[in-house]
Amino acid sequence: MASSLKSLVNDDDRYQKSFQLFLERSSEHQCMRDFIHNKLPDILASIGDGKSHLNVIGVGSGAGEIDLEMLSELHKKHPGVTVDNEVVEPSRQQLYNYKVLVSQKPDLDYIKFNWNTMTASEFEEHWKAEKATKKVDFIHMIQMLYYVKDPEATVRFFQGLLGKNGKLLIILVSGKSGWGKLWRTYRAQLCQPDISQCVTTGDIKSFLDSKGVRYQSYELPSQMDITECFTEGDEKGELLLDFLTEVLDFSNTASPELRAGVLEMLRHPDCSVESNEKMLKPSPFVEEKRNTTT
Ligand code: SAH
Repeated sequence: MASSLKSLVNDDDRYQKSFQLFLERSSEHQCMRDFIHNKLPDILASIGDGKSHLNVIGVGSGAGEIDLEMLSELHKKHPGVTVDNEVVEPSRQQLYNYKVLVSQKPDLDYIKFNWNTMTASEFEEHWKAEKATKKVDFIHMIQMLYYVKDPEATVRFFQGLLGKNGKLLIILVSGKSGWGKLWRTYRAQLCQPDISQCVTTGDIKSFLDSKGVRYQSYELPSQMDITECFTEGDEKGELLLDFLTEVLDFSNTASPELRAGVLEMLRHPDCSVESNEKMLKPSPFVEEKRNTTT
C-alpha cells in the first residue's frame, strides 16, 4: 500500500504550506524558543574552548527563525566572537525566506552565512569532496532527520565533525507522543522506504546508547490543535493530515480504511486530549537531546 502513497516532502510547495499551518496550529516554535532561552544558553556556554571564532552548521534550517534565535544566544554567551554559519537546506523557497530574515535583522555582522541549497547527504558528499578539515563547534538538526535515508549514518557523519567541546543538537518527535503512537501503528502504510520518515527520539536514543555516546535529553511539551482534521473536505484539515502522516494529499490518496484508521487513532485518548472542543496533541511530543563528544 505504501507504494501508492507519495511523500509530502517531495512536493515542496505543499510541504511548506502544511508546515506553516502546523506552526500556526501548534506551540512547536514557542516551546523551542523556551528551550533556546532557558536551557540552551548553558549548553552554548560550554562550547568553543576559548576560541575567537566558532563554526556552526544548521541542517534542515527551514526559514531560519529558530536558527537566528540560537545564534543570538550564542552571541550573548560569546560576545566578540565571529561565527561561520553553514546553512544546509534543500528548499530554495525556505533558503530565500531565511535570507530575507537575515537582511531584516540588524547586528548580524559577526556571522558569515554560507548558503548550501542541498540535502544533508549532498552536503556530506560536498564536505568529503572538499576534504574539509575544519572542526565544528555547534551543529543542529531540528525536525529534519525524518527526511534522510539513514538517520544514524547522518548523525554519525555530523558528530564526526565536532571539535573539542562541540555539541550536536537534535530535535525530533518523541516516541511517547501522539505522533510516535500514530507512526508506530501505521509505519508500514505511511512510511516510504527511501527516507526514514517515522524516526523518533526513541530510535536515536537506542542508537546513541548502543554506541556508548553521552547525551542529555530534554522534553519540549508542544501541543497541536487537530480539530480541523475531523471535518471532511476541510482544506486546512487536509493540510494538517498531510503533515501528521507525512503523506502527500493523504485524504484523497489513502485507502478509506487507512484514512478511517488514522482519524480514529488521532481521536483516541492515547493520542489526543479534548479541551474547549478542540482535539489537542498531548504533551510532550517533542523531545530534545544534545549529544556530546568525549
Ligand atoms: N528546522 C526548521 C525547519 C523544520 S522542517 C524548524 O524547526 O523550523 C524540515 C526542514 O528540513 C524543511 O525545511 C525541509 O526543506 C528540510 N529538509 C527536507 N529534506 C532534507 C534533507 N534530506 N536534508 C536536509 N534538510 C532537509
